[in-house]
Amino acid sequence: MAITRRELISSIAKTSVPAAVAMSVGAETLHAETEQIPVPSAAVGLLYDASICIGCKACVAACAEANDTPPDTRGDALHQSPSDLNDVTRNVIKLYKPEDGSLSSFVKRQCMHCLDPACAAGCPFQALHKDPESGIVSWTAEECIGCRYCTITCPYHVPRFQWQGYNPRVTKCELCSTRLERGLRPGCTTVCPTGAVIFGPRTVLLTEAKRRISNNPGKYYQERVYGETDNGGTQCLYLSRVPFEKLGLPELGSESVPAKTLRWQRRLYQYFALPALLYVGLVQVIRKSLKGHEEEAHERERETGLRAQL
Ligand code: SF4
Ligand code: SF4
Ligand code: SF4
Repeated sequence: MAITRRELISSIAKTSVPAAVAMSVGAETLHAETEQIPVPSAAVGLLYDASICIGCKACVAACAEANDTPPDTRGDALHQSPSDLNDVTRNVIKLYKPEDGSLSSFVKRQCMHCLDPACAAGCPFQALHKDPESGIVSWTAEECIGCRYCTITCPYHVPRFQWQGYNPRVTKCELCSTRLERGLRPGCTTVCPTGAVIFGPRTVLLTEAKRRISNNPGKYYQERVYGETDNGGTQCLYLSRVPFEKLGLPELGSESVPAKTLRWQRRLYQYFALPALLYVGLVQVIRKSLKGHEEEAHERERETGLRAQL
């Protein structure tokens, strides 16, 4: 069966990810199981309250404009209507509408700017980098070799790769850092008619989210803010009336993906479990290969009547 280049790279990356993550996690990002991940001193982020989003998608158009990306009309030639994040779309609005008629919800999806980003931990050349002050996770073209590990290690499936083109890029929200440098707010937060998405220091956003929860008892799912501790904490925070998993925000626990991977890696190496597993795997591969050669030799012998010399 023919295998495409994309499938080949994906399968190689998938099998090598745990090792790559463990190798590239520097000493400064090693976190003990219970250790809290430090929040950058000037961490900024977004607070998205799904309960007041009306799905107008003004933020999608504003994001495209802020990032100078072409209108994404591939789903519908008349409208800018991307159905998911992709090689030109860094921000998307989706609709969760259960068939049983229960509560539906819009959801805004963009990079979460994780406190301990798995995309950066998985990148072998530090092309993805978390700013130590603002905590914004950005991508640097000069460092990227196009291995696409980041597209696989991100637990939120955010970074997208430009498969077409001579000089492909990794696309994701960078919190409009170039606008912030000019004293402007992120594009998506300047147009929202209901204030469903707001920008600010993470501490202020967290306080605001908790204020909304305490002012509206019973309104929000689990009366908690997604991203306060999930996946070690994120700088983009969410409030929702429906379960977070329904909006594509998985239950990851409070330990970050890189810390979890590292812990498993340590366990596997402890007692030489991983080398032993690798050895067993290698023996199986050699056995299979020898068997194949033997069968081939017998086949040839049957066809030609000549005995194989080796
Ligand atoms: S959401 Fe994904 S791409 Fe964004 S910082 Fe976290 S791991 Fe990286
Ligand atoms: S912060 Fe900027 S790049 Fe990120 S979703 Fe908003 S507009 Fe788009
Ligand atoms: S602009 Fe605001 S209300 Fe409109 S889709 Fe975006 S987040 Fe929702």
